[in-house]
Amino acid sequence: MSNVEADPTEVDCPPSGRSESPPPQTLKPREVPLGGPRAMRVRRVLPHRQIRTIGPWCFVDHYGPELAAETPMVVPPHPHVGLQTLTWLMEGEVVHRDSVGSIQTVRPGELSFMTAGHGIAHSEYSTPDSTRLFGVQFWLALPSSDRNREPFFEFHRDLPTTNLGPVTATVIIGDFAGHTSPASQSWPTVGIEFDFTEPGTVDIPINPEFEHGVLAASTRAEVAEASLEIGDLEYLGWGQENLRITADQGKVILIGGAPFTEHLVMWWNFVGRSHEDILQARDRWMEGVLAPSVTDDPNAPLPAPELPSVRLRPRPNR
Ligand code: MN
Repeated sequence: MSNVEADPTEVDCPPSGRSESPPPQTLKPREVPLGGPRAMRVRRVLPHRQIRTIGPWCFVDHYGPELAAETPMVVPPHPHVGLQTLTWLMEGEVVHRDSVGSIQTVRPGELSFMTAGHGIAHSEYSTPDSTRLFGVQFWLALPSSDRNREPFFEFHRDLPTTNLGPVTATVIIGDFAGHTSPASQSWPTVGIEFDFTEPGTVDIPINPEFEHGVLAASTRAEVAEASLEIGDLEYLGWGQENLRITADQGKVILIGGAPFTEHLVMWWNFVGRSHEDILQARDRWMEGVLAPSVTDDPNAPLPAPELPSVRLRPRPNR
């Protein structure tokens, strides 16, 4: 996935605080092409005008379920810096390849999680059998302590699950109801899929130190006071200990974490702290030194777009 929108708005950056939580709000996605003449279209719901991050989660692209034969997911080798990519499928299959040697087919319920650190390249292609593709591409910002670390890829086929009546909860990252995901963490983070096998309601405990969001991934849902259409993300702020989710048959995804305290500059596939971070990452990619080649990938790497003519500025997280 690529974030090709420049975001050059100059803003002041007040320090983030753990003071009063912002009020809940329903974030609506906007449709964007992934890039290229045969681009698959996705619905981007984070970053959003008002809300830039939820914990470390800084990017949410929701796509599917239909996958037109003429527009499969074709994302040739491209770089990432300063973030983690988390691929979560509900239908279909995607093959991930990267510059640290990984070749991995990813299916629904399996976690494909790549830590870019100072630089990695990867590609993602839907498989020929995937006539439907329904999923979410998330990015998590790496804190300064880890953003220049060595890149690595992890894959988890058997994530912990627990049943809450007719709802199966899968712990994608973090802890829930006494279960812990094996996924690594660079920042206090939670990500849970709730699969409603029939319409119903769950009441779940949540960490009041975390801010949270709920994505209506494949069903309409009622979250707190809000009614969500498929693709909406309800921002919940922090300070709550319980959450009620009502949904039809289908999946909703809870994301959250400790409010992220660093202000980010996001441009294309890079997350940094300054214009210079982005410029340097772009130069390294275009000079071919950001990462080795993607393993066993015959396609040409994607060139970086031109930088905007104005300086990129850090943005407050909300
Ligand atoms: Mn990517």
